[in-house]
Amino acid sequence: MPTISDSTRGEFALIEKIRNLSAPVPEGVLGIGDDCAVLPQKDGLQSLVSCDLLVEGEHFVLDRISPRELGWKSAAVNISDIAAMGGRPRGTFLSLCLPEKFSEADVLEFIEGYNALSSRFSCPLLGGDTTRGKLLCINVTVLGECPAGRAVLRSGARSGDLICVTGPLGDSATGLELILSDRSSDPNYQYLKERHYLPVPRVGEGMAIAKAGAGAMMDISDGVASDLRHILKASSVGAEVDCGAIPMSTQMQKTCASLGLDPVEKALCGGEDYELLFTIGEQELKRLDVEHYVIGRITAGNSLVWKGSDRDYLGFRHF
Ligand code: ADP
Ligand code: MG
Repeated sequence: MPTISDSTRGEFALIEKIRNLSAPVPEGVLGIGDDCAVLPQKDGLQSLVSCDLLVEGEHFVLDRISPRELGWKSAAVNISDIAAMGGRPRGTFLSLCLPEKFSEADVLEFIEGYNALSSRFSCPLLGGDTTRGKLLCINVTVLGECPAGRAVLRSGARSGDLICVTGPLGDSATGLELILSDRSSDPNYQYLKERHYLPVPRVGEGMAIAKAGAGAMMDISDGVASDLRHILKASSVGAEVDCGAIPMSTQMQKTCASLGLDPVEKALCGGEDYELLFTIGEQELKRLDVEHYVIGRITAGNSLVWKGSDRDYLGFRHF
């Protein structure tokens, strides 16, 4: 039976070494290991801070994505980490490494997309840095806040809690499949491409889930198969996931069928959905008034069981 430690892979093992080499954080501060760092404030609030790096060729293919889409997505994936704590985003900093081929007009179109997403969440651009370089690199730092002691961490899952997600999974990864294989004639191309390039972070949903009393939460960037393991490891619990209960759009299922792809594998392992994955008690779930799908249950012990499937699933690998 697969165990949670199966997920100890290159990137995460390296981050663990970095953490071990670094100074311990002061009492009351949460450092490396969650979607955001959490810092106390004096006025009954907590600050949430996160940053993410997007590198040309690693996270996007420059001639397949428009500058506007790239700007939107850069803001979205960062604001999503504030949503993952149940917080409210307050502002961002944007650092750009710009190659010659990315023109000034491209930069301005990028900013137009960045601001279109950010303004939806009243999250203004507050600063950053700009430099020349060989590859387009985008680093965003996002600041947010939530009531003191109310950030929803990865470590709060309890045995018996239900495991839920806020929306259908696998659209983004299936969209990427269509983009990279030039299948613009697929009837679901436009929908799936937008789900890949123009994700909308679940900010209001995250705050409502926190208020309802969720135990643990994170955003789905690498796929439930990988991301759930972070919650299980941080909370020292196991899980049973019902593969038949994974929400998937009809567009995604039809396209997977026509490409001969396994939709459940795409949904669990594809990543970049930016839906929220959370655990919550049955009573608390009754108080929750946002779209959600129950996909499994937290168990005691350290096993991760995929009910309804005879295989194990792993998420997206960075290294
Ligand atoms: P997410 O997918 O939510 O953005 P990551 O998987 O990128 O989170 O990172 C996991 C954790 O490790 C986060 O708490 C992040 O801040 C931390 N982290 C990642 N890279 C580094 C680094 N180079 N130095 C310090 N902390 C890091
Ligand atoms: Mg995250």
